[in-house]
Amino acid sequence: MKAVLVGVGQAGGKLADHLVTFDHERGYGSVLDAIAINTAQSDLQPLALDTVLIGQDRVKGHGVGGDNELGAEIMEADLQEVQQKIGNRITTQAESIILTVGLGGGTGSGGAPVLARRLAEIYEIPIYVLAILPSTEESNLAQVNAGRSLKTIIDTVDATLLIDNDAWKTTGESLTEGYKEINQQIAKRIGLLLAAGEPAKGVAESVVDSSEVINTLRTGGMAAIGYNEVAAAESTEENINTILTATRSALLSGLSLTGETTAESALLVITGDPDRISRKGVEKSRRWLEDETGSMQVRGGDFPTDSDQIGALVLLGGIQSSDRIEGFFARAQEAAAAPTEMEADEDKLFQNDDLDDL
Ligand code: GDP
Repeated sequence: MKAVLVGVGQAGGKLADHLVTFDHERGYGSVLDAIAINTAQSDLQPLALDTVLIGQDRVKGHGVGGDNELGAEIMEADLQEVQQKIGNRITTQAESIILTVGLGGGTGSGGAPVLARRLAEIYEIPIYVLAILPSTEESNLAQVNAGRSLKTIIDTVDATLLIDNDAWKTTGESLTEGYKEINQQIAKRIGLLLAAGEPAKGVAESVVDSSEVINTLRTGGMAAIGYNEVAAAESTEENINTILTATRSALLSGLSLTGETTAESALLVITGDPDRISRKGVEKSRRWLEDETGSMQVRGGDFPTDSDQIGALVLLGGIQSSDRIEGFFARAQEAAAAPTEMEADEDKLFQNDDLDDL
């Protein structure tokens, strides 16, 4: 699936950068273009992307701290310029626009909903958001920012793919140390998903095309992604179990949202050497995924790679329930009720900021 990436805020910019690198290194060509938007000059500098510095008149390139209301105001004020810079990149080849953002901060948390709303008004192609949920170890402010931002984003765009910063953290690792690793993991999963929707170079028996990705996400709301790879055996027959193991781990321990999750739709993409991929294994795994997610719409296909590993990529669309999301909104609501942490004033730029409704 050909995508144009728009990174908003520090984490958003870094993610877009990692995705571009992954796509270029593998030569997939799924990322058509990418741009990073921020209020902080120092966060834009290290990125190998075109950038737009917004709010110079208000914050002079120094960022908004954790103030997502200021982030929203600045995006609103500079929307015309941002929209034009993005517009120059949306060619007829583009099949989607993906906004990348960390929800717990100020610029991305406040700016992404405003920008997403404008893009959704303008473009017919789907607008997706790749949104990072703050770790439970982060501040109350991060939880509140994320709760408010997420609610508005979900109602605005075609689908919101959630990445939980706690999901792929290695035990004992501090969050900052872990960010690079997490960013690479995200880039690999999203990069493979986009590439799987491209015309196949090898001979896949059952290729996935971009419409399968779009249809899986058509249910709207929240989505998640999981991946796992296992060393492939030589014979196709032996790989029935390899594929099943990779699929189970992708969902049960490799998903971007921790905890139990049920979904309306799912897509299973098996990656690896096409000669070793067992059709029976793929079919068994697809049925297992149907049972496990409670979804009646599980699509499937292969993505050929030159690897000794067999990988299973699972995309869940229309997430119906999730322990982590419920816990996260409860924490955001609790934190919003603590007045010393932050001003929880209503802001007209947020359409659905009443956390009581969640
Ligand atoms: P902003 O620039 O004001 O939008 O804020 P940041 O992007 O710096 O931070 C927003 C949130 O993103 C934080 O609360 C973290 O949860 C998360 N975050 C920050 N940097 C990274 C990163 O490099 N990787 C990941 N996965 N998350 C990050």
